[in-house]
Amino acid sequence: MLSFIGIGSAFNTEKLNTSAFIKNDNSLLLIDCGGTVFHKLQKLNLVDGIENLYIILTHTHPDHIGSLGEVIFYSYYILKHKPTIFFPKKELIEGFLISIGVSAEMYKINSFEEAEVNDEKLGELDIEFMPVSHVQTIPAYGFIIRLNGKVFYYSGDSNDISKTILEKLKNGEISVIYQDTCGLDYEGNSHLSLRRLCEIIPQEFRNKVYCMHLDEHIKEKEIQNNGFNVVKIYEG
Ligand SMILES: [Zn+2]
Ligand SMILES: [Zn+2]
Repeated sequence: MLSFIGIGSAFNTEKLNTSAFIKNDNSLLLIDCGGTVFHKLQKLNLVDGIENLYIILTHTHPDHIGSLGEVIFYSYYILKHKPTIFFPKKELIEGFLISIGVSAEMYKINSFEEAEVNDEKLGELDIEFMPVSHVQTIPAYGFIIRLNGKVFYYSGDSNDISKTILEKLKNGEISVIYQDTCGLDYEGNSHLSLRRLCEIIPQEFRNKVYCMHLDEHIKEKEIQNNGFNVVKIYEG
């Protein structure tokens, strides 16, 4: 359902910053916008001719918002379009954008925890944010997306999967989970180790879980051997 521009963790730049999108004709929904994202969007011609741009942000770490400024500038000056940003903490993102010279008239912001979009090309979209456990310093969110009858969960960066989400996966309300997964495994980890993921997800539901935000310490084979999927980088 989602295509990925990058699938790596912050330091795993080989796999590029984790970011996903849904595109149909001149409408583009982008999830996160880390430092490597704008370059890849340009390279893949994903922003050419876009008339409706929506950007969902999970949190404000650089590997998730590092090139947000460029994307907004490009949209405002080249595409002559104000993108809509979805993020529950309005002041946080506004403050960041002011500090990098992006003024308020260049974008729109929707900070409702539950937001609806009705886009001519993408269809009916409902985004429901939920706080996730990641770091102490900034808030981080996962969200459920309902798009044209399909429902999935995107974890953002998180070291856990909530009971609510697990329940919804088990009863079929959510059909796919995209989950931050890493190889490193230690007390106080801000990401979810594959070992923990195996503890949390029973074997019969693992084919509905797609691992993303991979660090250098995890092998795709290892993920697949445990019954999970690995997201693939979109190459156009
Ligand atoms: Zn990250
Ligand atoms: Zn993070």
